[in-house]
Amino acid sequence: MKIHRIVLASHNTKKARELAELLRDVEVLTLGDFAPAPVPEETGSTFAENAAIKAIAASEHTGEFCLADDSGLCVDALGGAPGVNSARFAGTHGDDAANNTLLLEKLASVEESARTAHFASALALASYGRIIFQAEGRVFGKILNTARGVGGFGYDPLFVPDSRPELAFISDGRTFAELPAQVKNTISHRAEAMKKLVRWLTNQNMT
Ligand code: IMP
Repeated sequence: MKIHRIVLASHNTKKARELAELLRDVEVLTLGDFAPAPVPEETGSTFAENAAIKAIAASEHTGEFCLADDSGLCVDALGGAPGVNSARFAGTHGDDAANNTLLLEKLASVEESARTAHFASALALASYGRIIFQAEGRVFGKILNTARGVGGFGYDPLFVPDSRPELAFISDGRTFAELPAQVKNTISHRAEAMKKLVRWLTNQNMT
């Protein structure tokens, strides 16, 4: 099965452009290129389930290969929370400042060595209501006790990625919000998941 066109199950044209740069020879569209699609409820208890719900709904609506992603932050001392509730942790969807304040409150008595966490990103590719590929990417690190940096979004000002020998140049304690966007976007959970998709797709279209 060769895949020459993918519809991103979102209206985000910036994400679509990024995807198109990674997937040469694959045309990338968004749901904005189709008649208005019903928005499915994200009722899954995992990132993978929610990505699958969105990809399946979009593929049924468009009849195309559809890619969806779902991501968030999992904090070990909070049993994996906020997890799939990352965007609405403090109650209002997308209120990053309130989410960060709540996270700091919940971790107030947790010592530094126990403030471990990871970001996760799940991708799902569906065709005619069936999942044909899934991948997950993760990046591990620690939650600070004060926010630092103005870049990125969401929990970025509180998250310091773990140092890794191959990434010595970023292993200096900077948060995701302090790192240049290109650096974050190379080592992030989304980048890891996307690399797996690109590998699979390249293989798929070569054989
Ligand atoms: P989405 O599934 O990509 O919309 O992400 C859901 C939520 O997870 C966002 O609203 C953020 O709170 C959090 N999140 C996901 N990815 C990141 C990231 O790269 N940095 C900071 N927060 C993130």
